[in-house]
Amino acid sequence: MGRTEDLIREVECWSAHNYHPLPVVIERGEGPWVWDVEGNRYLDMLSAYSAVNQGHRHPKIVAALVEQAQRLTLTSRAFHNDQMGAFLHQVCELLGYPKALPMNTGAEAVETAIKAVRKWGYTVKGVAADAAEIVVCEENFHGRTTTIVGFSSEEQYRHGFGPFTPGFRLIPYGDIDALRGAINRNTVGFLVEPIQGEGGVIVPPEGYLKVAAELCREANVKLMADEIQTGLGRTGKLLASEWENVRPDVVMLGKALGGGVYPVSVTLADEEVMDVFTPGDHGSTFGGNPLAAAVGRAALGVIVEERLPERAAELGAWFMDELRAIESPHVEQVRGKGLMVGVVVKESSGTARPFCEALMERGILAKETHQQVVRFAPPLVVTRDVLEQALESIRDVIQAPAA
Ligand SMILES: *Cc1c(COP(=O)(O)O)cnc(C)c1O
Repeated sequence: MGRTEDLIREVECWSAHNYHPLPVVIERGEGPWVWDVEGNRYLDMLSAYSAVNQGHRHPKIVAALVEQAQRLTLTSRAFHNDQMGAFLHQVCELLGYPKALPMNTGAEAVETAIKAVRKWGYTVKGVAADAAEIVVCEENFHGRTTTIVGFSSEEQYRHGFGPFTPGFRLIPYGDIDALRGAINRNTVGFLVEPIQGEGGVIVPPEGYLKVAAELCREANVKLMADEIQTGLGRTGKLLASEWENVRPDVVMLGKALGGGVYPVSVTLADEEVMDVFTPGDHGSTFGGNPLAAAVGRAALGVIVEERLPERAAELGAWFMDELRAIESPHVEQVRGKGLMVGVVVKESSGTARPFCEALMERGILAKETHQQVVRFAPPLVVTRDVLEQALESIRDVIQAPAA
Protein backbone atom coordinates (compact mmCIF):
# COMPACT_ATOMS: atom_id res chain seq x y z
CA MET A 1 0.00 0.00 0.00
CA GLY A 2 3.07 2.29 0.29
CA ARG A 3 2.79 3.88 -3.13
CA THR A 4 -0.96 4.52 -2.84
CA GLU A 5 -0.54 6.18 0.54
CA ASP A 6 2.33 8.37 -0.67
CA LEU A 7 0.38 9.54 -3.71
CA ILE A 8 -2.70 10.31 -1.63
CA ARG A 9 -0.61 12.16 0.94
CA GLU A 10 0.90 14.29 -1.80
CA VAL A 11 -2.56 15.32 -3.02
CA GLU A 12 -3.70 16.05 0.51
CA CYS A 13 -0.65 18.20 1.02
CA TRP A 14 -0.98 20.32 -2.12
CA SER A 15 -4.65 20.25 -3.08
CA ALA A 16 -7.56 22.27 -1.79
CA HIS A 17 -9.73 19.91 0.24
CA ASN A 18 -12.86 20.15 -1.89
CA TYR A 19 -13.33 16.40 -2.48
CA HIS A 20 -13.45 13.24 -0.40
CA PRO A 21 -12.38 10.50 -2.85
CA LEU A 22 -12.23 6.80 -2.17
CA PRO A 23 -8.66 5.81 -1.21
CA VAL A 24 -7.69 4.38 -4.59
CA VAL A 25 -5.13 5.82 -7.02
CA ILE A 26 -5.83 4.93 -10.63
CA GLU A 27 -3.11 4.87 -13.25
CA ARG A 28 -4.65 3.19 -16.29
CA GLY A 29 -8.02 2.61 -17.91
CA GLU A 30 -9.46 0.61 -20.78
CA GLY A 31 -13.13 0.17 -21.66
CA PRO A 32 -15.08 -0.33 -18.43
CA TRP A 33 -11.90 -1.17 -16.47
CA VAL A 34 -9.36 0.83 -14.50
CA TRP A 35 -6.17 -0.27 -12.73
CA ASP A 36 -4.66 1.22 -9.58
CA VAL A 37 -0.97 1.81 -8.93
CA GLU A 38 -0.75 -1.52 -7.09
CA GLY A 39 -1.92 -3.39 -10.19
CA ASN A 40 -5.47 -4.11 -8.96
CA ARG A 41 -8.22 -4.03 -11.56
CA TYR A 42 -11.60 -2.42 -10.92
CA LEU A 43 -14.87 -2.15 -12.79
CA ASP A 44 -15.58 1.58 -13.07
CA MET A 45 -19.22 1.98 -12.09
CA LEU A 46 -19.12 5.75 -11.87
CA SER A 47 -17.73 6.55 -15.33
CA ALA A 48 -16.57 9.97 -14.12
CA TYR A 49 -20.19 10.96 -13.48
CA SER A 50 -21.13 9.70 -16.98
CA ALA A 51 -18.33 11.49 -18.81
CA VAL A 52 -16.87 8.11 -19.84
CA ASN A 53 -19.98 6.56 -21.39
CA GLN A 54 -17.88 5.37 -24.35
CA GLY A 55 -15.43 3.60 -22.03
CA HIS A 56 -11.92 4.61 -21.04
CA ARG A 57 -9.58 5.52 -23.90
CA HIS A 58 -11.92 4.50 -26.68
CA PRO A 59 -9.52 3.93 -29.61
CA LYS A 60 -11.51 6.05 -32.07
CA ILE A 61 -11.75 8.96 -29.65
CA VAL A 62 -8.09 8.79 -28.67
CA ALA A 63 -7.13 8.59 -32.36
CA ALA A 64 -9.15 11.74 -33.09
CA LEU A 65 -7.49 13.50 -30.17
CA VAL A 66 -3.98 12.55 -31.23
CA GLU A 67 -4.55 13.25 -34.89
CA GLN A 68 -5.98 16.70 -34.24
CA ALA A 69 -3.34 17.50 -31.61
CA GLN A 70 -0.71 17.00 -34.26
CA ARG A 71 -2.29 19.60 -36.55
CA LEU A 72 -3.99 22.38 -34.58
CA THR A 73 -5.30 22.69 -31.03
CA LEU A 74 -6.43 26.25 -30.39
CA THR A 75 -7.17 29.38 -32.33
CA SER A 76 -9.68 31.11 -30.02
CA ARG A 77 -12.88 32.34 -31.63
CA ALA A 78 -11.07 35.43 -32.90
CA PHE A 79 -10.44 33.30 -36.01
CA HIS A 80 -12.26 30.39 -37.59
CA ASN A 81 -10.92 26.87 -37.34
CA ASP A 82 -11.63 24.05 -39.78
CA GLN A 83 -13.18 21.67 -37.21
CA MET A 84 -15.86 23.54 -35.29
CA GLY A 85 -18.47 23.76 -38.04
CA ALA A 86 -18.52 20.04 -38.71
CA PHE A 87 -18.83 19.31 -34.99
CA LEU A 88 -21.74 21.69 -34.44
CA HIS A 89 -23.40 20.42 -37.63
CA GLN A 90 -23.15 16.86 -36.34
CA VAL A 91 -24.41 17.54 -32.82
CA CYS A 92 -27.30 19.67 -34.12
CA GLU A 93 -28.39 17.07 -36.69
CA LEU A 94 -28.12 14.21 -34.24
CA LEU A 95 -30.16 15.95 -31.54
CA GLY A 96 -32.53 17.79 -33.86
CA TYR A 97 -31.69 21.43 -33.13
CA PRO A 98 -30.77 24.19 -35.57
CA LYS A 99 -28.21 25.99 -33.38
CA ALA A 100 -25.45 25.09 -30.93
CA LEU A 101 -23.11 27.20 -28.81
CA PRO A 102 -19.92 25.38 -27.80
CA MET A 103 -18.36 25.67 -24.35
CA ASN A 104 -16.09 23.44 -22.28
CA THR A 105 -17.67 22.39 -18.99
CA GLY A 106 -21.22 21.54 -18.07
CA ALA A 107 -21.54 24.53 -15.77
CA GLU A 108 -20.64 26.81 -18.68
CA ALA A 109 -23.33 25.23 -20.85
CA VAL A 110 -25.85 25.90 -18.06
CA GLU A 111 -24.65 29.51 -17.71
CA THR A 112 -25.00 29.85 -21.48
CA ALA A 113 -28.57 28.56 -21.34
CA ILE A 114 -29.43 30.94 -18.49
CA LYS A 115 -28.02 33.94 -20.37
CA ALA A 116 -29.73 32.94 -23.63
CA VAL A 117 -33.14 32.43 -22.04
CA ARG A 118 -32.94 35.61 -19.96
CA LYS A 119 -32.03 37.68 -23.00
CA TRP A 120 -34.80 35.98 -24.98
CA GLY A 121 -37.15 36.97 -22.16
CA TYR A 122 -36.19 40.63 -22.43
CA THR A 123 -35.89 40.95 -26.19
CA VAL A 124 -38.60 38.58 -27.45
CA LYS A 125 -41.06 37.83 -24.65
CA GLY A 126 -41.05 41.42 -23.41
CA VAL A 127 -40.22 40.93 -19.75
CA ALA A 128 -39.36 44.18 -17.92
CA ALA A 129 -35.64 44.89 -17.42
CA ASP A 130 -33.99 42.71 -14.78
CA ALA A 131 -37.30 41.05 -13.81
CA ALA A 132 -36.78 37.67 -15.53
CA GLU A 133 -37.31 34.56 -13.43
CA ILE A 134 -36.16 31.00 -14.04
CA VAL A 135 -37.88 28.21 -12.16
CA VAL A 136 -35.55 25.51 -10.81
CA CYS A 137 -36.04 22.37 -8.71
CA GLU A 138 -35.04 21.41 -5.21
CA GLU A 139 -32.17 18.90 -5.09
CA ASN A 140 -30.97 20.21 -8.45
CA PHE A 141 -27.39 19.91 -9.59
CA HIS A 142 -26.35 22.16 -12.47
CA GLY A 143 -22.71 22.88 -11.63
CA ARG A 144 -20.60 24.96 -9.28
CA THR A 145 -20.45 28.56 -10.46
CA THR A 146 -21.64 31.20 -8.00
CA THR A 147 -24.83 31.82 -10.00
CA ILE A 148 -25.62 28.10 -10.17
CA VAL A 149 -24.91 27.24 -6.52
CA GLY A 150 -26.97 30.31 -5.61
CA PHE A 151 -30.12 28.43 -6.64
CA SER A 152 -29.13 25.10 -5.12
CA SER A 153 -31.20 23.74 -2.25
CA GLU A 154 -28.13 22.00 -0.84
CA GLU A 155 -26.91 24.06 2.08
CA GLN A 156 -23.29 22.92 1.71
CA TYR A 157 -23.10 24.04 -1.94
CA ARG A 158 -24.12 27.57 -0.89
CA HIS A 159 -22.81 28.14 2.60
CA GLY A 160 -20.17 30.85 2.65
CA PHE A 161 -20.40 31.69 -1.06
CA GLY A 162 -23.06 34.41 -1.15
CA PRO A 163 -24.32 36.91 -2.12
CA PHE A 164 -26.06 35.14 -4.97
CA THR A 165 -27.61 36.01 -8.31
CA PRO A 166 -31.32 36.78 -7.97
CA GLY A 167 -34.01 35.67 -10.43
CA PHE A 168 -34.43 31.98 -9.58
CA ARG A 169 -37.46 30.36 -7.99
CA LEU A 170 -37.12 26.95 -6.30
CA ILE A 171 -39.93 24.41 -6.40
CA PRO A 172 -40.12 20.73 -5.37
CA TYR A 173 -38.95 18.33 -8.10
CA GLY A 174 -41.62 16.20 -9.73
CA ASP A 175 -44.45 18.47 -8.56
CA ILE A 176 -46.50 19.78 -11.50
CA ASP A 177 -48.79 21.92 -9.35
CA ALA A 178 -45.77 23.65 -7.88
CA LEU A 179 -44.56 24.43 -11.39
CA ARG A 180 -47.97 25.75 -12.38
CA GLY A 181 -48.01 27.95 -9.28
CA ALA A 182 -44.47 29.26 -9.81
CA ILE A 183 -44.96 30.47 -13.38
CA ASN A 184 -45.87 34.15 -13.75
CA ARG A 185 -45.55 36.75 -16.49
CA ASN A 186 -41.86 37.25 -15.66
CA THR A 187 -41.00 33.56 -15.97
CA VAL A 188 -38.67 32.95 -18.91
CA GLY A 189 -37.48 29.40 -18.27
CA PHE A 190 -37.87 26.16 -16.38
CA LEU A 191 -34.47 24.56 -15.82
CA VAL A 192 -34.72 20.87 -15.00
CA GLU A 193 -32.86 17.56 -15.07
CA PRO A 194 -35.03 14.79 -16.59
CA ILE A 195 -33.59 12.55 -13.86
CA GLN A 196 -31.71 14.15 -10.98
CA GLY A 197 -28.25 12.58 -10.91
CA GLU A 198 -26.32 14.19 -8.07
CA GLY A 199 -29.59 14.60 -6.16
CA GLY A 200 -29.56 10.81 -5.76
CA VAL A 201 -30.79 9.34 -9.07
CA ILE A 202 -34.29 10.70 -8.54
CA VAL A 203 -36.77 9.68 -11.24
CA PRO A 204 -39.79 12.00 -11.35
CA PRO A 205 -43.35 10.63 -11.62
CA GLU A 206 -44.25 9.37 -15.08
CA GLY A 207 -45.58 12.14 -17.29
CA TYR A 208 -43.90 14.91 -15.30
CA LEU A 209 -41.69 16.24 -18.09
CA LYS A 210 -44.47 15.87 -20.64
CA VAL A 211 -46.91 17.99 -18.62
CA ALA A 212 -44.14 20.42 -17.68
CA ALA A 213 -43.44 20.90 -21.39
CA GLU A 214 -47.13 21.62 -22.03
CA LEU A 215 -47.29 24.13 -19.17
CA CYS A 216 -44.19 25.85 -20.50
CA ARG A 217 -45.60 26.03 -24.03
CA GLU A 218 -48.90 27.51 -22.83
CA ALA A 219 -47.12 30.15 -20.70
CA ASN A 220 -44.43 31.01 -23.29
CA VAL A 221 -41.71 29.72 -20.97
CA LYS A 222 -38.63 27.93 -22.30
CA LEU A 223 -38.14 24.34 -21.13
CA MET A 224 -34.42 24.02 -20.44
CA ALA A 225 -33.33 20.39 -20.04
CA ASP A 226 -29.99 19.84 -18.36
CA GLU A 227 -28.98 16.57 -20.06
CA ILE A 228 -25.33 16.88 -19.09
CA GLN A 229 -25.51 13.63 -17.11
CA THR A 230 -28.69 11.99 -18.48
CA GLY A 231 -27.93 12.69 -22.13
CA LEU A 232 -25.97 10.85 -24.82
CA GLY A 233 -27.30 7.39 -24.05
CA ARG A 234 -26.98 7.04 -20.29
CA THR A 235 -30.69 6.45 -19.60
CA GLY A 236 -31.32 4.29 -22.67
CA LYS A 237 -32.19 7.12 -25.07
CA LEU A 238 -30.03 9.73 -26.76
CA LEU A 239 -31.78 12.28 -24.53
CA ALA A 240 -33.67 11.26 -21.39
CA SER A 241 -36.39 13.73 -22.46
CA GLU A 242 -37.24 11.28 -25.26
CA TRP A 243 -38.72 8.88 -22.69
CA GLU A 244 -41.62 11.33 -22.50
CA ASN A 245 -41.55 12.35 -26.15
CA VAL A 246 -40.50 15.82 -25.09
CA ARG A 247 -38.38 18.09 -27.23
CA PRO A 248 -37.01 20.71 -24.81
CA ASP A 249 -36.58 24.28 -26.07
CA VAL A 250 -33.01 24.36 -24.80
CA VAL A 251 -30.71 21.38 -24.13
CA MET A 252 -27.39 21.37 -22.30
CA LEU A 253 -24.88 18.60 -23.05
CA GLY A 254 -21.42 17.98 -21.62
CA LYS A 255 -19.63 15.11 -19.92
CA ALA A 256 -19.79 12.23 -22.48
CA LEU A 257 -19.68 14.77 -25.31
CA GLY A 258 -15.93 14.81 -24.66
CA GLY A 259 -15.70 11.01 -24.67
CA GLY A 260 -13.86 11.03 -21.37
CA VAL A 261 -10.76 12.58 -22.88
CA TYR A 262 -11.42 16.30 -23.12
CA PRO A 263 -13.96 18.78 -21.72
CA VAL A 264 -16.60 19.60 -24.36
CA SER A 265 -20.06 21.05 -23.79
CA VAL A 266 -22.76 22.64 -25.90
CA THR A 267 -26.04 24.43 -25.43
CA LEU A 268 -28.61 23.60 -28.11
CA ALA A 269 -31.61 25.75 -28.96
CA ASP A 270 -33.89 27.01 -31.70
CA GLU A 271 -33.08 30.23 -33.56
CA GLU A 272 -35.64 32.19 -31.57
CA VAL A 273 -33.49 31.76 -28.47
CA MET A 274 -29.99 31.45 -29.86
CA ASP A 275 -30.31 34.45 -32.17
CA VAL A 276 -30.41 36.76 -29.14
CA PHE A 277 -26.62 36.53 -29.00
CA THR A 278 -24.66 39.12 -30.94
CA PRO A 279 -20.86 39.32 -31.25
CA GLY A 280 -19.34 40.15 -27.87
CA ASP A 281 -22.34 39.02 -25.78
CA HIS A 282 -20.84 35.76 -24.65
CA GLY A 283 -17.87 33.52 -25.26
CA SER A 284 -15.02 31.36 -24.06
CA THR A 285 -11.35 31.25 -25.05
CA PHE A 286 -11.40 27.47 -25.38
CA GLY A 287 -15.04 26.97 -26.42
CA GLY A 288 -15.29 25.39 -29.87
CA ASN A 289 -11.55 24.81 -30.16
CA PRO A 290 -10.47 22.39 -32.90
CA LEU A 291 -9.27 19.72 -30.48
CA ALA A 292 -12.61 19.75 -28.66
CA ALA A 293 -14.47 19.68 -31.96
CA ALA A 294 -12.52 16.69 -33.29
CA VAL A 295 -12.98 14.82 -30.01
CA GLY A 296 -16.68 15.71 -29.86
CA ARG A 297 -17.26 14.34 -33.36
CA ALA A 298 -15.56 11.07 -32.51
CA ALA A 299 -17.41 10.84 -29.19
CA LEU A 300 -20.77 11.26 -30.93
CA GLY A 301 -19.74 8.82 -33.65
CA VAL A 302 -19.06 6.09 -31.11
CA ILE A 303 -22.40 6.65 -29.37
CA VAL A 304 -24.24 6.16 -32.66
CA GLU A 305 -22.11 3.38 -34.19
CA GLU A 306 -22.03 1.26 -31.05
CA ARG A 307 -25.71 1.89 -30.33
CA LEU A 308 -24.90 2.95 -26.79
CA PRO A 309 -28.42 4.19 -25.95
CA GLU A 310 -29.91 0.83 -26.98
CA ARG A 311 -27.25 -1.01 -24.99
CA ALA A 312 -27.99 1.10 -21.92
CA ALA A 313 -31.71 0.42 -22.27
CA GLU A 314 -31.33 -3.36 -22.57
CA LEU A 315 -28.55 -3.86 -20.04
CA GLY A 316 -30.02 -1.34 -17.63
CA ALA A 317 -33.47 -2.92 -17.50
CA TRP A 318 -31.95 -6.33 -16.82
CA PHE A 319 -29.40 -5.01 -14.31
CA MET A 320 -32.04 -3.15 -12.33
CA ASP A 321 -34.23 -6.27 -12.21
CA GLU A 322 -31.28 -8.23 -10.85
CA LEU A 323 -30.58 -5.57 -8.21
CA ARG A 324 -34.23 -5.51 -7.17
CA ALA A 325 -34.20 -9.27 -6.78
CA ILE A 326 -31.48 -9.09 -4.12
CA GLU A 327 -32.95 -9.60 -0.70
CA SER A 328 -31.15 -7.29 1.67
CA PRO A 329 -32.07 -5.76 5.01
CA HIS A 330 -30.17 -2.61 3.98
CA VAL A 331 -31.83 -1.67 0.71
CA GLU A 332 -34.75 0.71 0.72
CA GLN A 333 -35.18 1.09 -3.02
CA VAL A 334 -33.54 0.50 -6.40
CA ARG A 335 -34.34 3.23 -8.90
CA GLY A 336 -33.14 4.68 -12.17
CA LYS A 337 -33.38 4.36 -15.91
CA GLY A 338 -31.06 2.65 -18.36
CA LEU A 339 -27.60 2.39 -16.83
CA MET A 340 -28.18 5.26 -14.40
CA VAL A 341 -29.09 3.34 -11.28
CA GLY A 342 -29.28 4.24 -7.61
CA VAL A 343 -29.48 1.79 -4.71
CA VAL A 344 -30.90 3.62 -1.70
CA VAL A 345 -29.49 2.46 1.64
CA LYS A 346 -31.87 2.51 4.62
CA GLU A 347 -30.95 5.11 7.21
CA SER A 348 -31.04 2.40 9.86
CA SER A 349 -28.16 0.72 7.99
CA GLY A 350 -25.95 3.82 8.08
CA THR A 351 -24.73 5.72 5.02
CA ALA A 352 -23.82 4.52 1.54
CA ARG A 353 -20.12 5.24 2.01
CA PRO A 354 -19.13 1.97 3.79
CA PHE A 355 -20.89 0.01 1.04
CA CYS A 356 -18.83 1.86 -1.58
CA GLU A 357 -15.67 1.11 0.41
CA ALA A 358 -16.61 -2.58 0.61
CA LEU A 359 -17.33 -2.65 -3.12
CA MET A 360 -13.91 -1.12 -3.77
CA GLU A 361 -12.30 -3.95 -1.81
CA ARG A 362 -14.01 -6.31 -4.26
CA GLY A 363 -12.92 -4.50 -7.39
CA ILE A 364 -15.93 -2.30 -8.03
CA LEU A 365 -15.68 1.47 -8.00
CA ALA A 366 -18.94 3.19 -7.15
CA LYS A 367 -19.46 6.47 -5.36
CA GLU A 368 -22.12 7.45 -2.89
CA THR A 369 -24.30 10.40 -3.74
CA HIS A 370 -26.34 12.26 -1.14
CA GLN A 371 -25.33 10.07 1.81
CA GLN A 372 -27.83 7.26 1.24
CA VAL A 373 -27.47 6.36 -2.43
CA VAL A 374 -24.94 4.08 -4.12
CA ARG A 375 -24.90 5.02 -7.79
CA PHE A 376 -24.17 2.40 -10.45
CA ALA A 377 -23.39 3.96 -13.82
CA PRO A 378 -20.79 1.88 -15.69
CA PRO A 379 -19.48 2.87 -19.12
CA LEU A 380 -22.16 1.95 -21.67
CA VAL A 381 -19.72 -0.34 -23.49
CA VAL A 382 -19.82 -2.73 -20.51
CA THR A 383 -21.01 -6.25 -21.33
CA ARG A 384 -23.64 -8.37 -19.65
CA ASP A 385 -20.99 -10.90 -18.60
CA VAL A 386 -19.02 -8.25 -16.80
CA LEU A 387 -22.12 -6.92 -15.06
CA GLU A 388 -23.10 -10.47 -14.12
CA GLN A 389 -19.78 -10.88 -12.31
CA ALA A 390 -20.16 -7.48 -10.67
CA LEU A 391 -23.59 -8.49 -9.40
CA GLU A 392 -22.03 -11.30 -7.40
CA SER A 393 -19.86 -8.85 -5.51
CA ILE A 394 -22.69 -6.35 -5.16
CA ARG A 395 -24.89 -9.09 -3.71
CA ASP A 396 -22.23 -10.04 -1.16
CA VAL A 397 -21.73 -6.45 -0.10
CA ILE A 398 -25.31 -5.34 0.22
CA GLN A 399 -26.42 -8.52 1.94
CA ALA A 400 -23.61 -8.37 4.50
CA PRO A 401 -24.31 -7.11 8.02
CA ALA A 402 -24.09 -3.33 8.33
CA ALA A 403 -20.54 -2.10 8.84
C1 LIG B 1 -21.94 17.29 -13.94
C2 LIG B 1 -23.15 18.10 -14.15
C3 LIG B 1 -23.10 19.48 -14.42
C4 LIG B 1 -21.82 20.27 -14.37
O1 LIG B 1 -20.85 19.84 -15.26
P1 LIG B 1 -19.31 20.28 -15.05
O2 LIG B 1 -18.64 19.81 -16.30
O3 LIG B 1 -18.83 19.59 -13.82
O4 LIG B 1 -19.31 21.76 -14.90
C5 LIG B 1 -24.27 20.14 -14.69
N1 LIG B 1 -25.45 19.50 -14.68
C6 LIG B 1 -25.55 18.18 -14.42
C7 LIG B 1 -26.89 17.52 -14.46
C8 LIG B 1 -24.42 17.44 -14.12
O5 LIG B 1 -24.52 16.14 -13.82
